[in-house]
Amino acid sequence: MPLKFLITAGPTREPLDPVRFISNPSTGRMGFALAEAAMAAGHTVRLVVGPTCLEPPAASEVVRVTTADQMREAVLSRLADSDVLMMAAAVADYRPKAFSAKKIKKASGLLELALEPTPDILLECALTKEHRVHVGFAAETHDLLQNARAKLEAKNLDLIVANDVSQDGAGFGAVTNRATLLWRDGRIEALPLMSKRELAEQIVSAVVGRHGD
Ligand code: C5P
Repeated sequence: MPLKFLITAGPTREPLDPVRFISNPSTGRMGFALAEAAMAAGHTVRLVVGPTCLEPPAASEVVRVTTADQMREAVLSRLADSDVLMMAAAVADYRPKAFSAKKIKKASGLLELALEPTPDILLECALTKEHRVHVGFAAETHDLLQNARAKLEAKNLDLIVANDVSQDGAGFGAVTNRATLLWRDGRIEALPLMSKRELAEQIVSAVVGRHGD
């Protein structure tokens, strides 16, 4: 039976003034590969995409957003009508506390920025989870499995895809990835280095196999 996937991809941008923002190097590649794999398997995909130069695949809906707040709104409004949520987006964890409507002028000395947390979209989605399958991603530079397991529990996920972004061939922008899958029941699968598309196919088929468990 075809399932309805809601997939996020890419970074978010958190503006500081009209010409500057806080962001990260996510390209959206992993989320796009998931969308392609799900569509190739006959499922319906809606894609929520942060600012990226890569062209998103032709999903049944592609929603372009910029900030974490906009991504939150786009995800929450489509959540009830989805069977699987995959949050592959690298949502900025912090944003400038204040937005300056005028460009901040350069001055000598230190400029200190106050940052506040962005809304945690997956955490909020957990409130209405019920039978929907939730998949999160953890990009870490240290204590990979420990951090990923903590996120899986905190955000009530079914699966978290953990990758060590300090390794060659893994993480932001790369076409390959080496990931470890951590499941809610405690099962851990360390996968070899493979293309993001191959990894996406494995994730999609594992998730579809578990839907309705
Ligand atoms: O940033 P963090 O390492 O906590 O990200 C883990 C998962 O949570 C990712 O799947 C990411 O898309 C999601 N996330 C989110 N809202 C945030 C930060 C992260 O949904 N504000």
